Amino acid sequence: MPKPTTAGDGRGSKEPTVVDIDRFRGRLIRADHADYDTARAVWNGAIDRRPRLIARCIGNADVAGAVRFARDHDLEIAIRGGGHNVAGTAVCDHGIVIDLSAMRAVRVDPAHGRAWVQGGALWGDVDHETQAHGLATTGGIVSHTGVAGLTLGGGIGWLMRKHGLTVDNLLAVDVVTADGELLRASENEHPDLFWALRGGGGNFGVVTSFEFRLHAVGPTVLAGPILWDASEATEVLRFYRDFVRDAPDELGTVVRFGTAPPLPVIPEDLHWRPVVMVGTCYAGPIEEGERRLAPLRASRTPLLDLVGPVPYVGFQSALDSTVVHGWNYYWKSTHLPELCDDLIDVIAEHAFSCSSPRSYVAMFHLKGAVSRVAEGRTAFGNRQASHAITLDGVWRPSEDFGDRDTAWTRRFFAALGRFREGVYVNFLGNDEDPDRVREAYGDAVYDRLADVKTRYDPDNVFHHNQNIRPARGG
Ligand SMILES: Cc1cc2nc3c(=O)[nH]c(=O)nc-3n(C[C@H](O)[C@H](O)[C@H](O)COP(=O)(O)OP(=O)(O)OC[C@H]3O[C@@H](n4cnc5c(N)ncnc54)[C@H](O)[C@@H]3O)c2cc1C
Repeated sequence: MPKPTTAGDGRGSKEPTVVDIDRFRGRLIRADHADYDTARAVWNGAIDRRPRLIARCIGNADVAGAVRFARDHDLEIAIRGGGHNVAGTAVCDHGIVIDLSAMRAVRVDPAHGRAWVQGGALWGDVDHETQAHGLATTGGIVSHTGVAGLTLGGGIGWLMRKHGLTVDNLLAVDVVTADGELLRASENEHPDLFWALRGGGGNFGVVTSFEFRLHAVGPTVLAGPILWDASEATEVLRFYRDFVRDAPDELGTVVRFGTAPPLPVIPEDLHWRPVVMVGTCYAGPIEEGERRLAPLRASRTPLLDLVGPVPYVGFQSALDSTVVHGWNYYWKSTHLPELCDDLIDVIAEHAFSCSSPRSYVAMFHLKGAVSRVAEGRTAFGNRQASHAITLDGVWRPSEDFGDRDTAWTRRFFAALGRFREGVYVNFLGNDEDPDRVREAYGDAVYDRLADVKTRYDPDNVFHHNQNIRPARGG
């Protein structure tokens, strides 16, 4: 097969002469294609990369062909699932994007509580199909997040304290390795690879299909946010700290600091007002949830209490319009221990000092079933941490908050320094110190991941990600 010329890089008028992928049945999108700019765009509008070729696959054979083609032609590979990662690793400059966005099928076996999900599906696709049977598995809290990237990094969400991380519910995958070979990995088939895929991200192959365990959830759950004025953040957090310490596994909470978004369910006079918002979702009987949530709701008079019985599938997309595709995002993140007074003071001091009304902070309460799985059982690190916090600078392309809110996230992150306890790999940005990938796993898990990487991808073909380098070479 002829090599592509190196003259064209997709930036100039010259079309790179990459030949077609043999027997490829999906779409090949190059710089001169009418859909090129849409196809290379990812969720984070601050990412502007120009691949030489986007291979939009429609099946496993396409994916395998694209991997082999990339290797034959020495093209860097980026893998696109939902295209949602803040670091924008789903798209690269000059190379090839193996794009799974046309592979979004979901099949549910309600009798056995199983779902098969293609590698380009979004969480909204999964919840839509599984909730038709009153079933669900732990997924992300925004419905347009990709299943693949989220799962491969671990997967946190409203249901994790009851049902574990997304990876704790992963039973098997179909994966195309760096050699272009299609393997099935599970506890019994390539168990070392299966272990690595449960937290190690896109370092080990292109996952074309996931098999998940499902649980009875809803379809109506007790859920919703409670809003207090930002000036009450310290008192709210002190109560919250004590409240979640003894919370049942069924109760998932996420604290959001920022302005009240202009959602239809929020009265107009509260729109854009700085608030601390405790989002709740009770994955159990409604009456039991009412009882367990009562102390939080009664702790101090809120500006607004929207907790009530809602369809789980609708709740899963309630935040979608607050994190729109194409806005610019800059994140810093860390895991945190249980909130002590000093830590609460740091959070209260910094959380509301951003400039953009769209910037916010989200703090997920972990523990529960997440922490009961032994460290090292999967490749997800830091299972004993209490909270995962993301400091999220957000501004529209027409706005000039970027520099100020990037500086705000960095300042806030520095102030959290003495409390840091690892990090969730999926919340890492694109300008992180490489040591942060090791931080996400801890030394023992990272070194084991590097060994598996050496076995399955010794040349580090899959490196456009939060990279785990092979133990030798790469
Ligand atoms: C607004 C927002 C909300 C979020 N909420 C949550 C949340 O509630 N819980 C949570 O756990 N995370 C959450 N995340 C983080 C999320 O897990 C990551 O952004 C994740 O990467 C999204 O997956 P994706 O498929 O869209 O990734 P993409 O951007 O498509 O890909 C990111 C990387 O994942 C890997 N990858 C993607 N697809 C595949 C594949 N098929 N095979 C192999 N590797 C692949 C590749 O390395 C790729 O570079 C959120 C992110 C955002 C932006």
